Amino acid sequence: MSVLTSHQLLDGKRASDAIRREIAAKALEVKAARGRPPHLAAVLVGSDGASQTYVESKVKACDGVGFRSTLIRLPETISEEELLSRVKQLNKDKELDGFIVQLPLPSHIDADRITLAIDPAKDVDGFHPVNVGNMVLGLPGFLPATPSGICELLRHYSIATVGKHCVVVGRSNIVGTPMSILMGRNAYPGNCTVTLAHSRTVDLPAITRQADILIVAIGKPGFITADMVKEGAVVVDVGIHRIPDATRKSGFRLMGDVQFDAVAPKCSAITPVPGGVGPMTITSLLLNTLKACLL
Ligand code: NDP
Repeated sequence: MSVLTSHQLLDGKRASDAIRREIAAKALEVKAARGRPPHLAAVLVGSDGASQTYVESKVKACDGVGFRSTLIRLPETISEEELLSRVKQLNKDKELDGFIVQLPLPSHIDADRITLAIDPAKDVDGFHPVNVGNMVLGLPGFLPATPSGICELLRHYSIATVGKHCVVVGRSNIVGTPMSILMGRNAYPGNCTVTLAHSRTVDLPAITRQADILIVAIGKPGFITADMVKEGAVVVDVGIHRIPDATRKSGFRLMGDVQFDAVAPKCSAITPVPGGVGPMTITSLLLNTLKACLL
C-alpha cells in the first residue's frame, strides 16, 4: 500500500503490477487444481487500429499473468446473425471462463443485441444488463472494467472517499454512469455524495470546482483546466487521446481529458495519462476473468 505525499501520482502501472503479481499467483493455483489456467477470449470484428491495439494489450496482459487467451478475429463484413452465433458458441465453450466482444462494432451490427446474447456468467466486461443490475443492487457480479479499475486504484492509494463530494463528468454506460453508482454505494471506495455531469450540465466549472474527487470521462483532450479544479482535489483522468507531435519518434503523444501540467499542482493526487486508468482497466478485466473461472 502506498502513502500519499502532495501532488501524489496515482500510478496505475505500479498498482497494476502489484495486483497482477497476486493474480499470477492465483492463476498458478487454479492451474494446479484444475489442470488449466483461467482462459479469456477476445472477439475483434474488423480492423480498427485502436480496437486492435486494445485487444492486443488485453491478450498480452493475459500472457503476463499466466492466463490462456484466445483472440478471435472476424471480418468487418460479418453479419449480426453470424456474430450472434459465434457468441452462442462461446457461451457454451466449457474451456472458456469469460469473453469480451471489443466495441465499437461495425454500424450494421446492433451492439446491444450482441451484449444481451452474452451469458452474464461469462460477461467479464460487465456490460450485460444482469451484471449492470447486480452492480446497482450491490449483488455479486462482474463490474465494468474501467470504473472497477478506478476503484482498485483509489483503494491501492488509500484515498479517503467517505462523505466526499465526487463529481463524475461523462455519463457513458461503460464509464461515467457505473462510476457514479460505485462511488455512491455503501462500500469502500464509495460513500461519496455524487454528482453526475454531462454535456447538458449548466455551468460545469462551478460544479467541478466543488469536487473533492473529480473523475473525468468525456473524450475531449485537455478539457479540464486548472480553474475548474478545487485546491487539494483528487483527479482521475479517464480520457486517452493521440495528439500529433512531430518531436516524438512515434509522431504522437498521449494525453487525457485533463490539462495535467496545469492541474496537477492544485491536486492532492492525480492520475497520469498514460499510466493511470488504462493499465487498471486491463487489470480489472483480468480480475473478472479470474472470478469467472472460480464461479
Ligand atoms: P463517450 O463518448 O461514450 O461519453 C462521453 C460523455 O462525456 C458523454 O456522457 C457526454 O455527455 C459527456 N460530454 C461530452 N462533452 C461534454 C462537455 N463539453 N461537458 C460535459 N460533458 C460532456 O465516452 P466514454 O465514456 O466511452 O470515454 C470517455 C473517454 O475515456 C474517451 O477519451 C475514451 O477514449 C476514454 N476511455 C479510456 C479508457 C481507459 O481504459 N483509459 C476506457 C474507456 C474509455 P452526453 O451524454 O450528454 O452526450
